Amino acid sequence: MYQYKGLEDTIAAIITPSGTGGVGIVRLSGAEAVAILARVFAGKKPGLPSTWRAYTLHYGWIKAPSGDVVDEALVSVMRAPGSYTCEDVVEISCHGGPAAVRAVLELCLAQGARLAQPGEFTKRAFLNGRIDLAQAEAVLDIIGARTEAALRASEHQLKGDLSSELEMLREMLLNVLSGIEASLNFPEDDTDEGQGARLGADIAAVRARLASLLATARSGRILREGIKVVICGKPNVGKSSLLNALLRAPRAIVTDVAGTTRDVLEEAANIDGIPVNLVDTAGILLPRDKVEEEAVRRSRLSVEGADIVLLVLDRSLPLEEADRALAAEISNPHVIHVWNKADLPSAGNRGLGRPSVSVSAVARQGLDQLRAMMVRIALDGEGFDGRGLVINDVRHAEALRRAESALARAGAAVQEGGSFEFAAEDIKAAVNELDAITGRNVDDDVLEQIFAKFCIGK
Ligand code: GDP
Repeated sequence: MYQYKGLEDTIAAIITPSGTGGVGIVRLSGAEAVAILARVFAGKKPGLPSTWRAYTLHYGWIKAPSGDVVDEALVSVMRAPGSYTCEDVVEISCHGGPAAVRAVLELCLAQGARLAQPGEFTKRAFLNGRIDLAQAEAVLDIIGARTEAALRASEHQLKGDLSSELEMLREMLLNVLSGIEASLNFPEDDTDEGQGARLGADIAAVRARLASLLATARSGRILREGIKVVICGKPNVGKSSLLNALLRAPRAIVTDVAGTTRDVLEEAANIDGIPVNLVDTAGILLPRDKVEEEAVRRSRLSVEGADIVLLVLDRSLPLEEADRALAAEISNPHVIHVWNKADLPSAGNRGLGRPSVSVSAVARQGLDQLRAMMVRIALDGEGFDGRGLVINDVRHAEALRRAESALARAGAAVQEGGSFEFAAEDIKAAVNELDAITGRNVDDDVLEQIFAKFCIGK
C-alpha cells in the first residue's frame, strides 16, 4: 500500500482561482486546523473555534500576531471525518483580492500550517478512504470539464458508478478464482465434468462487461480532450464566416478581400456537448509571398492532424481547379464538403463524392445538419447521450484493456483443458488491473503522477 508521508501535517492553500474576485477562500485541513484558526481569528461573538459546532459559520476578523486586522472574514469549520478530506477542515472566506487572500494564507502558514501540494486535499480524501482513486480522478475531470456532457460523465464517476461496477467485476473474478483454487487443491473432489465450462462462462461474462465499458472509451476521450476541426478552402468561400457561425460570435476577421485570414486561427466551441477546437486555416493554396508560404505550410499540417476537416466550397460559383486540387489534396478520411452560400442561387456544381452539406454561414442555414454530421463522425457512430458511464481516462482504458486480455487467456485455458494454474495467474493479473483503477493497489509513482496534475487548492 502507498506510504504517504506528511498526512500528520496540517495543510493550507488558497482554493479559489488567482486574480481578483468578490471572495477568496483559504482552506486548512488536518489535526491542527482549528487550533491554527484560533490563533488568527477574532470572532465578533465570544467563543473559541474549538467550541463551535461543525458546519457553522462565524463572522469576524483575521488578525496578525501584532493585533492588526488583516481582513474581515466569514469562517466555517467541518470536523473529521465529516469533511472533504475526512480531517478537520477550516475554510476562511475573505476578500478576493490577491493581496488579502495571500496575507491570510501566509498568516496560517506562519502559525504552523504547511502549504498544500497540488491535489493534496483530494489525495487526503483518497488516503483517508472517503473516495477511491477513480473518484479522486473524477474531481480533476470535473474541474477540467469544458462542456455539460463532459461534466455529467465525470459526475457519474465521482458518484462512484465506475467504482461500483469495477467492484462487482472484482467480486465475480474472485469467485472464479476460488473455484479454480478449490479444484487445484482438491482435484480428487472434482467429479463435476462441466466445471471448466462454467468457469469459462463466468470469465466470459466479466469480459463482456469490460468490453462494453471499453466501447465508451472513444467518446470518453473526446468528451475530455475534445476534437480538432479544421476549416479549409479557397479564399473567399466563407471559412471565417463559417467559423463565426459555428462559434455564434464574431471573432475571425471577415472581409471581401481574398486571403484575409493570413494565419491559423483557433477557437474553442461546444458542439452538441463535444468540446471542439475550431481551426480556421489560411485559405491559400499557392503562397504569394514568404508570409503566405509559412501560413500554407501550417494549414497543411493542421489538416493532416485534424479529427475532422471541413472543406468549404462556394455553392454560388462554378467550381474552380483550385477547389478540386484542394479536395484531392486532403488525405484525411474524415472530411465534410461544406457547400456554403446556400442563400444565393446555386451555380449547379456536381458533388465531389464525399459527405457533403449545404449551408449558409451568413443566413445561418444548414448549420444544425453540419453539427450533427460532425458529431456522428467524431463519435464514429457510437451513441453518446452524456448520461451513461463512460471511460474518459486513458489510464483506466489501458488497465481495462490489459484486464480484458488477461481474461481472454484465462478463459481459453479453463475451457480448452489448459492449465488452471496459469488461468489463476491471469485472473489475479486482471484483478490487479481493476484495483489499480480504484486505487486498492496502485504504484506510488502512478499516484504521484495523478495528483501532480491537480492544481494547488484542490
Ligand atoms: P474566407 O476568406 O473563406 O474566410 O471567407 P470570408 O468568411 O471572409 O467570406 C468572404 C465573403 O463571402 C464575405 O463577403 C462574406 O460576407 C461572404 N459570405 C460568407 N458566407 C456567406 C454566405 O453564406 N452567404 C453569402 N451570401 N455570403 C457569404
